[in-house]
Amino acid sequence: MKAYDYIIIGGGASGLMLAEAMGSDPWFRSKRIALIEQEKEKTNDRTWCFWEKGEGRFDPILFRSWDHVTVGGPGFRRKAHLAPYRYKMLRGEDFYREFGNRIAGCPHIDRIYARAETLEETGNHAVVHTSQGSFRAPMVFSSVLLPPPPDLMQPHPVLQQHFKGWFIRSENPVFDPQAPTFMDFDIAQEGLTRFMYVLPFSPTEALVEYTLFSEDLLEDDAYEAALEAYISGTLGSTGYDILETEKGSIPMTINDFTKANSAHICHIGIAGGWAKPSTGYTFSNTSRNIPRLLDRIKRGKVPVLRQPGRFRLYDRLLLDALAHENHLGQRIFSAQLERLPIPLLLTFLNEESSLMGDLRIITSCPMGPFLRASWRALFKSPS
Ligand SMILES: Cc1cc2nc3c(=O)[nH]c(=O)nc-3n(C[C@H](O)[C@H](O)[C@H](O)COP(=O)(O)OP(=O)(O)OC[C@H]3O[C@@H](n4cnc5c(N)ncnc54)[C@H](O)[C@@H]3O)c2cc1C
Repeated sequence: MKAYDYIIIGGGASGLMLAEAMGSDPWFRSKRIALIEQEKEKTNDRTWCFWEKGEGRFDPILFRSWDHVTVGGPGFRRKAHLAPYRYKMLRGEDFYREFGNRIAGCPHIDRIYARAETLEETGNHAVVHTSQGSFRAPMVFSSVLLPPPPDLMQPHPVLQQHFKGWFIRSENPVFDPQAPTFMDFDIAQEGLTRFMYVLPFSPTEALVEYTLFSEDLLEDDAYEAALEAYISGTLGSTGYDILETEKGSIPMTINDFTKANSAHICHIGIAGGWAKPSTGYTFSNTSRNIPRLLDRIKRGKVPVLRQPGRFRLYDRLLLDALAHENHLGQRIFSAQLERLPIPLLLTFLNEESSLMGDLRIITSCPMGPFLRASWRALFKSPS
């Protein structure tokens, strides 16, 4: 069995960022590292967006960035300046290529193309059994749950941020290339929290995504019918071609993913609970968590990362409100989008806001669903 100092399972966002960080840090130069990924050729399987202040490490490989967004809900639509933020878009294939190339230049990192099948702890090591043999290391970082512990998704509710998107070319100009639509809640809700998301590349080209925050996924044709109604109806496209599609579902929960960790196994990325519970945004959390993880490894500490307490409480109440009264999502989000400065909202979602900022956001929301969620949090066991 081949032995390493560190094994990383999964060469997606978190696995590649971790491998690249270890590859470029002299502290890890004497360590043997393996990155195990099941797909030899990664495709353009997703689009990552995130916001940050000023220049950032991904700028050279961004596909687009914007300094405005549009937000909408029943009876309002507004274009807001994002300063000090920019909203940035990175294509999956550009990220995989760039980070893959950087890792290829690191002689102490082996890329192993194999499907990890099981992961177990034995003595001072964790052992990964894969389709190409078994490998061991005193510390394995896994972006895949092999398998998830049975009680991982308990005791708190689990919603999904689920979506389908079309990259389209419209025959007439219908997009504002200066401003993505961050959330447009001015669409039929039919009892669930639903919105549209648009990333415009030109007046005629964009990614249009139909997104829900709810428990169950929809049939494909339900996402497609909503996309068609929005593109032809709301946006007014007289005809369009679908160039590519994108689909996904991201867990939204405050359940403690660190339960799946142990002395020699640490989960990263979505499997590590790094998705922001109330929004599903994971990319910038991952980018922020990797240096913290490396710092803990170098200081010989157990690499456990948890969401800061008060933001966990806010997410808990919002998710509880949505789990019990999903039809109210439109009212909750629209109230924030209509009344608040968008940069303040982005600071809050990045978990960097002050208590005063938090208070402003909380008081902009309809109180009923949160009071009921607080009551449930205090007096009822979570369900
Ligand atoms: C379509 C889509 C769009 C998204 N857009 C955004 C966005 O705009 N902003 C944002 O912040 N977040 C976004 N997310 C959420 C999140 O950022 C991504 O899902 C991100 O890729 C998560 O990183 P990860 O490392 O946890 O998982 P992944 O990137 O999915 O990486 C897991 C890797 O493990 C590999 N793998 C799986 N099973 C095995 C196995 N058994 N053996 C070996 N390898 C295995 C997979 O092939 C994959 O490469 C999006 C998600 C999707 C699906």
